Amino acid sequence: KNLHKHNFGAGPCILPEEVLDNAAEAVKNWRPTGLSILEISHRSAAFEEVVKETEKLVRDLLQVPHNYSILFLQGGASLQFCMVAFNFLHNSGKDAVYLDAGYFGQKAIKEALFFGPVNVAASSRGAGYTHIPKEYSISADAAYFHCTSNNTIEGTEMFRFPETEVPVICDMSSDIFSRPIDISQFDLIYAGAQKNTGPAGMTLVIAKNDLLDSVKHPLPSMLDYRVYRDNGSMYNTPPVFAIYAAMLNLQWLKNKGGLKTISLENRAKAQLLYDEIDLNPLFYGAAERYDRSLMNVTFRMHDPGREADFLAFAEQNGMVGIKGYRTVGGFRASLYNALPYESVRELVNCMKVYAEKYH
Ligand code: PMP
Repeated sequence: KNLHKHNFGAGPCILPEEVLDNAAEAVKNWRPTGLSILEISHRSAAFEEVVKETEKLVRDLLQVPHNYSILFLQGGASLQFCMVAFNFLHNSGKDAVYLDAGYFGQKAIKEALFFGPVNVAASSRGAGYTHIPKEYSISADAAYFHCTSNNTIEGTEMFRFPETEVPVICDMSSDIFSRPIDISQFDLIYAGAQKNTGPAGMTLVIAKNDLLDSVKHPLPSMLDYRVYRDNGSMYNTPPVFAIYAAMLNLQWLKNKGGLKTISLENRAKAQLLYDEIDLNPLFYGAAERYDRSLMNVTFRMHDPGREADFLAFAEQNGMVGIKGYRTVGGFRASLYNALPYESVRELVNCMKVYAEKYH
């Protein structure tokens, strides 16, 4: 691994070195089997243990109550945009309520519309998605309410969730496992794995059993959450390596002290960078202060003509992945769990040095 690179990529993103080492070792020789993890049967007793252990780590780390199931799927968070609506909006005779607070929330709405009417509770689109809408109501006869806890592209994060009688469904792709959350506030959570969970290829779903059992219409097997639940996520071949590497990553997180410890570290990293953005005369934060994401820090330069030059300067100094999303521009530094504080210090140092030169 190149120690001179600081990986601020938005996902797939940095993973802990020991996870990479152990995953690499298992690709060559996975000790319990004497074979590569890539060539074992998903039905082997050794891999069944991996699935059980990964599930247990998710349950323990997030303190998932017993009336929720933990499922491992494929298709990324993007397939969840469709699956959520196919399961819970289709044939319900109801509207689904969506919060429109970013690019991915909008994609979720687009997919839901294949299955039924969508009611947008509130939108920050007109404001360039620089904040999370706060004032809205959710009608009591909605099929469900859907929101995105962290807007990966825009750099905003929800720290409070609405209290409502209807099921709450949340896309937590980019902030799950970054801080403690109260699972009982939600009825279904989904997350593509490729940020704080593990490598790409697995999607984590945590769902309340009552919600899953409320579905009355028939569904194709691969799009029916209950098929995953009733077959221990082994209805078909699961993403064996992605689940194994996620297990290693969640073990790393547990050994570090779990979500309380990691959330303190994540806060310290975000604070360091936001402080520099606020103090440095060349830069400003892209999101409203009170909604700033602790995972994806978005910022710009007062003089946009300098952005390409600063980017080149930062890249020469080992910064990777800080270019803002293609449709948004500016910069985005993602501070996922495995990113060391030291990397943030190096980025801040680049900003300071650059400002001394050019201000
Ligand atoms: N939702 C959020 C919040 C995301 O950050 C992403 C991707 N980074 C997605 C959905 C889409 O995920 P996937 O690429 O796994 O389909």
